[in-house]
Amino acid sequence: MSFITKNYHSLFKLGLAYLTGRNYPFVCVVRLNDACNMTCSYCDSYKLSKSVELSPLITFLDQIYQKGCRFIILTGGEPFLYKEREALLEWFRGKNIYLVINSNGKLIQNSSYQDFLKRADEVLISIDGPAEYNDSLRGQGAHKRVLETLQFLKEHHIKRTLSVVLTQMNTHEDNFRYLRELKIRYDTSIGFNPVTPDGRINNSEFSQNNSVPKDRLMALKAFIKLNRKIFLETPALLMDYFISPQPFTCKTMKFALYVDVDHGIYPCINVTHRPEARFSDLESYNGKYQKKIHCQECSCTPLIMGNLMLQERLPKPKYIFSILKRFW
Ligand code: SF4
Ligand code: SF4
Repeated sequence: MSFITKNYHSLFKLGLAYLTGRNYPFVCVVRLNDACNMTCSYCDSYKLSKSVELSPLITFLDQIYQKGCRFIILTGGEPFLYKEREALLEWFRGKNIYLVINSNGKLIQNSSYQDFLKRADEVLISIDGPAEYNDSLRGQGAHKRVLETLQFLKEHHIKRTLSVVLTQMNTHEDNFRYLRELKIRYDTSIGFNPVTPDGRINNSEFSQNNSVPKDRLMALKAFIKLNRKIFLETPALLMDYFISPQPFTCKTMKFALYVDVDHGIYPCINVTHRPEARFSDLESYNGKYQKKIHCQECSCTPLIMGNLMLQERLPKPKYIFSILKRFW
């Protein structure tokens, strides 16, 4: 079931909050743990060891649920490795929350992992290209497991979204065609994320050495345009931003929260290395956001369209339509 089918009233509340200038916790991303069973080249998460404490997390979730939050994304590390996951999932039982789990799919042959995925409305699954390329960055056998996971999700009618990290090595026509084929075969959505050095857990050296040149992004934009009906959820406006990013003051922080493993609350995962971006924490969250965060460019792909739209006094319909497609 799509978010819009399950919780369309949240979108009305979001629109109302925008029009009346209020903040509203429309979506919340929780990074449950650092621990991961993979060692991807662009990520340092598996080298870290923190995880969120359950009790303050539940108190916080109760608070944002009461304020109308119905869209929660659990991420990590690998969230399946979160020790308190069963107790946390119990909290979700009976609540009409759209639950997204961001996972690497490595443990798909484990029945407890399968049960974990079945609790989600949508699973974001990481893949960057064909086996040879994908496994050179994500570890041997990762690609095979992702395909098994996609098949499992398809058979269980759970929405699936490919999460693709773009580097200079996979932004070429052959890979675009490969991802198109995967998207059709498993009937998925897709999210492109240019590799970024921003944030506490990204491997900045790898990201700086492998960032995507503009001409590759332009080639991807042209490919998407040619295959518009297949890449419906990737707006040309987003590709334009990847090609020519602009600085702005974050506006999505009124509607999107990110909770880190150290209990800090930030506008998104990519500013966790900036102490001034931490505007609250699980223990003292009171529904307010206080700080203005200025970014040279928005490197948080899921929030770029929202930030672009909110820079204008009156949002242009083209932005609204592009964003709505994500929730379909
Ligand atoms: S990118 Fe994801 S799967 Fe890979 S090491 Fe980091 S947290 Fe684990
Ligand atoms: S990276 Fe984007 S979403 Fe994150 S704080 Fe900056 S402008 Fe906001």
